[in-house]
Amino acid sequence: GKLGKGLRVALTVLDFGRTTFGATCTGVAKQCVAHAAHHAATRVQFQKPIGSFELVKQKLAYLAGTAYAIEACTYQTAAFIDVGNTDFMLETAILKVFATEHLWRMVYETFQIHGGLAYFTDQPFERMMRDARINTIGEGANEVLRAFIALAGMRDVGLELEAVLNGLLRPVTGLGVVSRFAARKIGSVLTLPAVLTNSGLLEKDALRLAKRLREFGHRVEWLLRKYQMEIVDSQYQLGRVADAVCDLYASVCVLRRLDAMLQAHHRTEVEMERELTTGRFFLMQADRRMRHHFRAMTSNIDRETTVMADQVLREFG
Ligand SMILES: Cc1cc2nc3c(=O)[nH]c(=O)nc-3n(C[C@H](O)[C@H](O)[C@H](O)COP(=O)(O)OP(=O)(O)OC[C@H]3O[C@@H](n4cnc5c(N)ncnc54)[C@H](O)[C@@H]3O)c2cc1C
Repeated sequence: GKLGKGLRVALTVLDFGRTTFGATCTGVAKQCVAHAAHHAATRVQFQKPIGSFELVKQKLAYLAGTAYAIEACTYQTAAFIDVGNTDFMLETAILKVFATEHLWRMVYETFQIHGGLAYFTDQPFERMMRDARINTIGEGANEVLRAFIALAGMRDVGLELEAVLNGLLRPVTGLGVVSRFAARKIGSVLTLPAVLTNSGLLEKDALRLAKRLREFGHRVEWLLRKYQMEIVDSQYQLGRVADAVCDLYASVCVLRRLDAMLQAHHRTEVEMERELTTGRFFLMQADRRMRHHFRAMTSNIDRETTVMADQVLREFG
């Protein structure tokens, strides 16, 4: 590249690398579903296949819905790059955090379904677990990326923060600036799904997601009003914003994938029904997680967490 443009080249390499994390996680996620389902259907305990126990069903459902979402996010992010977008740092960071955090849990649950068997090295699971573990650290630790995701999402608002702060004295203007948060930077990724779904079958899902997106905008407004410039170092809250953004992004990707599937008419009725069930299950789980993150923005034990951590640092640090 040109002299003085090295940083851009290095950052672009990382952005591409994070997209390939999505692809590798997709492959392993599908393996988790296949291994877990096969074992749950064939391993008999207490005179029943273990897949008949609800605490195992809970894992299988999570695995299937999440594998579908990781793949949807990977396709969507790759397509975002392929159509010529040049600034995709935020999208690739979201994909990396979403895919690697969930894959870690997916491998954990797959391991658990296999019980003691999974512990032995003639099985693939300990290697899958070690590989999944580094994914949350390599190419940027997920904590750093989560702070980045939240702050990048707020970047446009941050640039106008002064105007916002002035606007707080005149709430109408101020809120106008702040409330563009969801509709601008993050909004470029999370275009309102209601206009995206061509299929009437998905209307209810799209409306629920649109509602969550609006709620997200309100929550961010509230955070910016409360923390102002201190938001930059408020990592408890940044973490919640990032986690909500990841689920919003993944939900939009899943909705788009379902919509494309319904429009394409390539599937049989049975296949379409199966894919709808899988995608919708993810959307429901993501919705519940988002509501949890929103609630925790105002109801939490952040102060106590800091007191506890500081005590540990003083005592053992
Ligand atoms: C097998 C392997 C392969 C690798 N391959 C590559 C490669 O090809 N290219 C490359 O560039 N790098 C590579 N790395 C390096 C990798 O990117 C770094 O390990 C990673 O960025 C984390 O840096 P660190 O290990 O120095 O951890 P540290 O920076 O010391 O962080 C340790 C932990 O502290 C926390 N933390 C750190 N900073 C913050 C913060 N600001 N806010 C909140 N929490 C924070 C996080 O929990 C983090 O996991 C590789 C590493 C391994 C183990």
